[in-house]
Amino acid sequence: MIESNSFDFIIIGAGAAGLLLADAIGKDAFFNSKSILLIEKDAKESNDRTWCFWERGSGQFDPLLYTSWNSVYFGGKQFRKNLDIAPYSYKMIRGIDFYKEYLGRIDSYSNITFSSETVVDINNETSSVIVNTTKNTYSASKVFNSIFHYHDIAKQQKFPVLQQHFTGWFIRTEQPVFDPNNAGFMDFTIPQKGNTRFMYVLPFSENEGLVEYTLFSEDLLAEEEYEAAIASYINTHLAGSAYVITDKEKGSIPMSCYNFEAHNTSNVINIGTAGGWSKPSTGFTFMNTVRNTASLVSFLKKNKPLNTFSTKRRFWYYDLLLLDILHRKNDRGQIIFESLFKKRSPQLILKFLEERTSFWEDLQVISACPKKDFISALFRRLF
Ligand SMILES: Cc1cc2nc3c(=O)[nH]c(=O)nc-3n(C[C@H](O)[C@H](O)[C@H](O)COP(=O)(O)OP(=O)(O)OC[C@H]3O[C@@H](n4cnc5c(N)ncnc54)[C@H](O)[C@@H]3O)c2cc1C
Repeated sequence: MIESNSFDFIIIGAGAAGLLLADAIGKDAFFNSKSILLIEKDAKESNDRTWCFWERGSGQFDPLLYTSWNSVYFGGKQFRKNLDIAPYSYKMIRGIDFYKEYLGRIDSYSNITFSSETVVDINNETSSVIVNTTKNTYSASKVFNSIFHYHDIAKQQKFPVLQQHFTGWFIRTEQPVFDPNNAGFMDFTIPQKGNTRFMYVLPFSENEGLVEYTLFSEDLLAEEEYEAAIASYINTHLAGSAYVITDKEKGSIPMSCYNFEAHNTSNVINIGTAGGWSKPSTGFTFMNTVRNTASLVSFLKKNKPLNTFSTKRRFWYYDLLLLDILHRKNDRGQIIFESLFKKRSPQLILKFLEERTSFWEDLQVISACPKKDFISALFRRLF
């Protein structure tokens, strides 16, 4: 039973971004006097996704890890290699383990109320923000929204909107076909069919793994096409062992340099995927959300208008060029990624993708990609 309908902060959505933010605020004594409402429509009791990310050495999510790898496989048309990524490791968390841990933490913060409801609109016409759900009307001085709709970004033409879309099967095989020491980061040795298509393979043991058919392209496929591609890959690349499908996951992550921050107001900010925190060129969102949440919490202490918070960095320009290329010639992904992995160390590539490289290192990475594509894309943007 909620005693008041008025809060200092309302966080909408208890997914990765909402839970990370609620936890960061809940454990920070600076916000002890703030009342916070976290609204979520789903029970969050199923393993609806797995999150992978890389980091150097140990990290705050280690107690939650399902597994991790010190080596990744890259498969191109000519270049195929297992790549040692030390001092990085590639780590995986199951959604269900994350939800359980973070919902438990949030339950322990006396200033945070969790409510299971569906938000229907957010109204910011007055100095306080009104949030209507199917059951109630709430008000708050600040709202953090993680509901994402593709139509918000699809209306404009300035920035191409691609999607990282995929279906994955968790399988158990009769024969030992997986190499549990190597995560299959990108395997382009499959028909490209005019797009950027690759297989992403996460082995959990010799007999268990996730096989995910992934595209960086504009339009989704019919579900049968993802499934046929996975079945074919298991037959051709995993020794054709008999197997059972134990679970499935699917998703679509926006890949766009669209200015998501333009939707923020002084009292309402979009967070997570809705806030443009998915890296446009790769779809990796989890670690970006961790970093942006920490920056947002520091920013909140300054009590500035929320629409002055920005996460835009120089890497945005590089992402823009890659997306422009893939939008015009969607089959260039395999050539670009193959050239990069062939010429540069995985450590440098991972550092670049997590946006920690120096400008000199950026140039080393970009110069390893086919130059003509990037020069043409740059000219097209400039003139
Ligand atoms: C299957 C899958 C696998 C992924 N794997 C990776 C990965 O390996 N690495 C990585 O970096 N990124 C990955 N991503 C991308 C990204 O990290 C996730 O999508 C992440 O969950 C985004 O966090 P979020 O909080 O923005 O959105 P979500 O986690 O989707 O949270 C939004 C929440 O809002 C709730 N909600 C929506 N509408 C309403 C409403 N009207 N009222 C109330 N609540 C509402 C939803 O139920 C949900 O809980 C993956 C995405 C998917 C779908």
